[in-house]
Amino acid sequence: MSLIVQKYGGTSVGSVERIQAVAERVAREHAAGHQLVVVVSAMSGETDRLLGLAKAIQNPPSPRELDSVLSTGEQVTIGLLAMALEARGVPARSYTGAQVRILTDSAFNKARIEAIDAAPIASDLAAGKVVVVAGFQGVDKDGNITTLGRGGSDTTGVALAAALKADECQIYTDVDGVYTTDPRIVPEARRLDRITYEEMLEMASLGAKVLQIRSVEFASKYQVTLRVLSSFKDGAGTLITTEENIMEAALISGVTLNRDEAKLTVLGVPDRPGIASAILGPVADANIEVDMIVQNVAADGSADFTFTVHRNDFDRAFAILETSAATLKARQVTGDRKIVKVSLVGVGMRSHAGIASRAFRVLADEGINIKMISTSEIKISVVVDDKYGELAVRALHAEFGLAGEA
Ligand code: ADP
Ligand code: ASP
Ligand code: MG
Repeated sequence: MSLIVQKYGGTSVGSVERIQAVAERVAREHAAGHQLVVVVSAMSGETDRLLGLAKAIQNPPSPRELDSVLSTGEQVTIGLLAMALEARGVPARSYTGAQVRILTDSAFNKARIEAIDAAPIASDLAAGKVVVVAGFQGVDKDGNITTLGRGGSDTTGVALAAALKADECQIYTDVDGVYTTDPRIVPEARRLDRITYEEMLEMASLGAKVLQIRSVEFASKYQVTLRVLSSFKDGAGTLITTEENIMEAALISGVTLNRDEAKLTVLGVPDRPGIASAILGPVADANIEVDMIVQNVAADGSADFTFTVHRNDFDRAFAILETSAATLKARQVTGDRKIVKVSLVGVGMRSHAGIASRAFRVLADEGINIKMISTSEIKISVVVDDKYGELAVRALHAEFGLAGEA
């Protein structure tokens, strides 16, 4: 008998029929003698609909009140799934994040889980019940409802698996595993049997939204056995695991596309110590995260300073730079929202030279201009015009032989 946490995403609970199908799967596992905790997302499109309602009333919405609205999506699906289980004779109980005390900090809309009280869930499980928990939500120490950021149900699933010391956390979604790239962009993409936590974390951070970043961080930290599977068809899915469990690391595991960033440039600042901190200090003070940074110095001694931020933060970052431009003695501030970031990820890069030059040549052959570059031990990222994003993904995917059978 094992203890399994299963998480079902929005499409997997998107209709009454889909909820019945999930209940069937859960009932099967329960009949096989497993203890089950099931985490569900809101029905697909529901969180966006709720966000739209909130924005129609107040824009930007008050963070605390927004969480009270957004968390209702998951409250519907837990109740419906518990009913579907009961209707099949499977004892089940549904709980909201606050009811099971998924304790978070008070950062509304992007709260982090701090603690989970596993005891009440464990006693339900011991009594033979299936425990159905609302994903994406928690409660802070003052009793306020919080949410964990988009895609946060993945993190609820993994955090529960860690707290309950589950044997496995299974993420059921609309694809049958983690692919070499988003199969919606490259239909020939290949499913990976296994991928390391480290690579999955890079892929999630660089735009592969199949798993929320925080869920992979949790899984890696608490060594949760994590598997991505399809709720529509049977299969082994993709196992996310440690490097030791992977016989031979692939050179490149995947290619990602991130459409969520925008680029800002401060032109013609004096090239002197402290300039980077003078530009980025006020941006950081406004709680805006900066991703890639590039500085070029011209022959006349002036510098151009470019960086990327989340598109949602673009307007605020631009306003901050315009305010500081005079003190910085900058010539001009410019911005570009129409960019995307394309990345290659693979632990095999550590031991192989020449991957970057091969990637740059492929992009050149396609006539794609690279605007920014950043690298780490296991990834190479480039910023290009958004209209070339998918072309760049396809070209890199083909160049590194990622298509076809495993
Ligand atoms: P859910 O609602 O189940 O949480 P998501 O939409 O959040 O599902 O995540 C699944 C989607 O992630 C897939 O439909 C796919 O388009 C996208 N995706 C992006 N990159 C990848 C990848 N490398 N492998 C698999 N799916 C990916
Ligand atoms: N329903 C939330 C969202 O759409 C959380 C999730 O699906 O993981 O972002
Ligand atoms: Mg998701």
